[in-house]
Amino acid sequence: MSKELGMTHKKSDLSEWYVEVVRKADLAEYSPVEGCIIIKPYGYAIWERIYEWLNERIKETGHKNVYFPLLIPERLLKKEAEHFEGFTPEVAWVTHGGKKKLNERLAIRPTSETIMYTTFSKWIRSYKDLPLKVNQWANIVRWETKMTKPFLRGREFLWQEGHTAHRTNEDADEEVEKMLNVYKELAEDVLAIPVLAGKKTDSEKFAGALYTMSIEGLMPDGKALQMGTSHNLGQHFSKVFDIKFSDEDEKKKHVWQTSWGVSTRLIGAVVMVHGDDKGLVLPPKVAPIQVVIVPIPSNERTVEEAQKLADALHPLRVEIDERERTPGFKFNDWELRGVPVRIELGEREIESGELTIFRRDTRERAKLLSKDAKEGIERILDEIQSNLFDRARKFLESRMDVAKSVDELVEKINEGKIVRAAVCPEHESKVKELCGATPRIISGRGKCIFCGKDCNEVWFAKTY
Ligand SMILES: [Zn+2]
Repeated sequence: MSKELGMTHKKSDLSEWYVEVVRKADLAEYSPVEGCIIIKPYGYAIWERIYEWLNERIKETGHKNVYFPLLIPERLLKKEAEHFEGFTPEVAWVTHGGKKKLNERLAIRPTSETIMYTTFSKWIRSYKDLPLKVNQWANIVRWETKMTKPFLRGREFLWQEGHTAHRTNEDADEEVEKMLNVYKELAEDVLAIPVLAGKKTDSEKFAGALYTMSIEGLMPDGKALQMGTSHNLGQHFSKVFDIKFSDEDEKKKHVWQTSWGVSTRLIGAVVMVHGDDKGLVLPPKVAPIQVVIVPIPSNERTVEEAQKLADALHPLRVEIDERERTPGFKFNDWELRGVPVRIELGEREIESGELTIFRRDTRERAKLLSKDAKEGIERILDEIQSNLFDRARKFLESRMDVAKSVDELVEKINEGKIVRAAVCPEHESKVKELCGATPRIISGRGKCIFCGKDCNEVWFAKTY
């Protein structure tokens, strides 16, 4: 086994471990532009699994896909003041077309509300045009000044952004909740990552929104990761962009809007939550390769049997490793890449009709009769999927806590926990000063642990 192949960092050195896994499992590499990554085929294939699942749900819930331009004229971005203030610090601008300086700067989209809503005002005339429900799969540029990390924080990433317009606020509320639930299902059922879901405090809401809902996962170092957001934009944008409709009563009214999105950051979450000292561990539902068959040794007979087995396993995503490498090299390689199930197929297995199965999540071997391969492997993949979720859920639950005083909050945050505490809006920044934690989502009501005022009780954690 070459030195280059295996992991050198343990997961307990999370930061170094993470970067090493991303590189050695062939998910992504750095590009000549700082903060922008090249997503390699194996990493992109994970995104494709997410895309395929989510795209189907987006359509099932009544949305249609669209594509809007990458460039947004400055005057549009400026129209909604709060939104502009919120995004300006991280907007990248195009100032020249060829050698000619442009009369107006063009923003590379940090998000598409402004360019879409200018158009919505032309598309929407009557209540019959509502609801308008579209989604865009695109890339986004936000000029991060903080330290970047592949997938988790970068200057360019891929995402989808849903944008809808409704007749009433109630319809918008319903849409926001529906899409948040789709995201929760994506995180928990597909990525096997348990999340807390709920409303953000005003300080953490999307720039220009009435309110923001979010799903938050907890990473192994106790930092929360915002994995998806769903915003009720109220009528802020529709008033600024003049999106009006004539209602049944023939009165002109402004529409109520929502927007919601998830990004390639989800790939980073999967790496962080499930990986171990040996490398990546992928939930079967997003694994580009679910089963790898390693013929031992790789000869005509074993490869032919491997091919028969692969055919029998259809439509599972199966790969046969025919490389001229030692079994040990191959085993390490596939473990590093997090392939859920490995089948070791040698002369002995062929003779006995009994396969040797290796499970990546538990790193245990088991026997399985060749004739039951399809059923058996499907069952094992299901078990891996739920085992990964259960493991992550137990971890999350072990780190959820409550604080009744400031000292208790600081102490528990420093232990790497996500902590419920009542803190009024004026004292949120105090928490950040004391321990670096920020409000994640609202959990209920209580009396501020700083001043005793009635206020929201909020989940606090450090974040990515
Ligand atoms: Zn207070």
